[in-house]
Order: sequence, then structure tokens, then C-alpha cells
Amino acid sequence: MAKRDFYEVLGVEKGADAKAIKSAYRKLAMKYHPDRNSDDPKADEKFREATEAYEILSDAQKRQAYDQYGHAGVDPQAGAGGFSGGSGNFSDIFGDVFGDIFGGGGRASRGGPQRGSDLRYNLEITLEQAVKGSEVKIKVPTLVECKTCKGSGAKDGSKPTTCGTCHGQGQIRMQQGFFAVQQTCPSCRGQGTIIKDPCGSCHGQGVQEETKTLNVKIPAGVDNGDRIRLSGEGEAGTRGGPSGDLYVQMNVKEHPIFERDGKNLYCDVPISIVDAALGGELEVPTLEGRVKLKIPAETQSGKLFRLRGKGVVPVRGGAAGDLLCRVMVETPINLNNEQKELLRKFQASLTGESHSPNKKSWFESVKDFFENK
Ligand SMILES: [Zn+2]
Ligand SMILES: [Zn+2]
Repeated sequence: MAKRDFYEVLGVEKGADAKAIKSAYRKLAMKYHPDRNSDDPKADEKFREATEAYEILSDAQKRQAYDQYGHAGVDPQAGAGGFSGGSGNFSDIFGDVFGDIFGGGGRASRGGPQRGSDLRYNLEITLEQAVKGSEVKIKVPTLVECKTCKGSGAKDGSKPTTCGTCHGQGQIRMQQGFFAVQQTCPSCRGQGTIIKDPCGSCHGQGVQEETKTLNVKIPAGVDNGDRIRLSGEGEAGTRGGPSGDLYVQMNVKEHPIFERDGKNLYCDVPISIVDAALGGELEVPTLEGRVKLKIPAETQSGKLFRLRGKGVVPVRGGAAGDLLCRVMVETPINLNNEQKELLRKFQASLTGESHSPNKKSWFESVKDFFENK
């Protein structure tokens, strides 16, 4: 399909000045903007056509090439002019023209809106908070748009000035014979503007550090390393871009009694040698308080007792885990002579190996170990 003449597209004379071209494009862009013409597919096409024409005719060098060679001079597919990025800077042009229309005239124009960075916050919580859920306030240092200069980076009353090296294009062209090479402008680093008089509050950065207080709702059942996303609470975007997100990462502190593994909890319970031998009732802790646990006679050290449903309800749903109590038989200490004597008597009363369930097999294992070495 033959391309229409760019001047014809914009409806301007061949000799129209930059102002006339911009104003003509602005009218067309307002009329055919896709946001206003969602039910008219032709509008989108017209919008693109006008944008392409404007991009060429608003650029002195491209316009010259177009006047001289026609479409072949500026069309990247035709390969003639060597002007890179035929309509690649769509968003730049967009910001340039619409920035004026919507009253954002003061802001730096080249380099489109940028989303702010995502931030991560390491939040220390207790096991109880993780299991039962809670709400905590956190203070987050973050970069927000500077209130003094409203993000422009320029001192109050002044504005960023157009970069003299690239005339606001953000890029410079090096002519090498017939070919032109585009480079990021070294003076303004591609911004198109230079801040001569920087804002005192932000030192020309356009952003400031601010501490904000946020409420974090911790759902019951979260585990170490889980992250909660606070949408839009990350770093501020630049040039009207959206803010990033804040990820609050759960660091569950060690608990003096319980150890967690997924949805199960573990705890060690000391038990006397007498209770272990004769059986008894122990009081064991759970997150909801103490409960009684019956210990059968002849309980060995290290045996696990399962308390069903006394673990954690996982954050993603499902049945509660269990609490596993590991009994640890304690060796008595601080014995007086009488007690020591009783133990010796007790020892002497034991005959054979039938009182030591593990001793025989253990000795056999040791024997095997040395013989097969
Ligand atoms: Zn400032
Ligand atoms: Zn520049």
C-alpha cells in the first residue's frame, strides 16, 4: 500500500514551520487517540499514521531526508537513509505532545514514564504471630517524588532547561558520510534536559527519602520466607510512572520451646527416669496452653508423642498439623549418699539383659562393626 504524503497526513503546507506541524499533530492526535475511539478501528490506524508523519516532520534532519528522498529517505525498511528507529520512539513523542496538553509541561520529557523499583522488607515475627496471624506496623524508608520541586529536580521557580547539546532530543547523531549514527547525548545522559539550578531538598534527584508507616496484615499460618505483597508501596515511579510493590518477607524468630517444620510443631519434654519407667502423666505446652499427656510405662528417651491438630493450620488452607512431643529422659543430678546407695541397690537387683531393651542389640552391632573392619 502506497504511503500517503506526510504533509498531506497532517494537513499542512510543505513549508510549514515546527509550530504549525506540532499543532496539526496535536489536533489529529486528540481526535484519533485510541483511548477516545475504542469502537473505531480506523481511528487507531489514523493515529499511527499521524504519529509517524509527526515523528519525521518534527525532526529537522529526518524532515530534510524526507523532503529529499521521500519515504525511502526515512523508512527504516527501505534501508536508504540509515536513520535508525523509524517509529521506535513512539512513547517519547507521546509524552512530548501530551505532556503539554495535560499540563505536565515542566517535567523532563524524554525517556518515558518508569515504574518504581520493587522493595523488600525483612520482617521479624514470633512463631505465635506466624501461626495465629497478626497485624504489625512497619516503617519503610522509601523514595517518593520530591515535594519541593514536584519531581522535576529543579529549584523552585526554575525549570530544567533543554539540553543544548542535543536540543532536547536525548540523542545526538554523528554523520558519517551517507550514514548517521545515533548516540545517547553525553551532556544530559539521554534526559533531554539539564538542571542548572538543582532543588535544594533533593539535590536535583527529583526524589526524596521518606519513612512511611504501613500496616501489614499477617495471615495465620505464614512460614519463614513467605512474602506478602503490598501493591504500589514500593519506590515511586518517575515521570508519572507507577510505583513499585513492597514485598514483606517473613523471618520467624526461633522459639524457646517449639520448632516448626511445615505444619507440624516439635518440642522436647524432659521426663524423669521414674516416670519413664513406671509411666505417668506429663503437662506439655501447646500454643494454646498446657495439656496433659499420658506416658506409658517403659517409655524410652527420644520417643515422639503426637498431639493431633495441635500444630499449624497452613496459610494456604487445609487441616492443622500436629504437635510432636519428644520425651527426653533425664539423668538425675545432685544425689545425696542415700539416693546413690538406693541406685546401687537398684542396679544390683537387675539381672540379665531383659531390663535393657537396646543393650544387647547395641553390643552386637559394635561387635559386627569391629569384626567386619
Ligand atoms: Zn526536589
Ligand atoms: Zn542532551
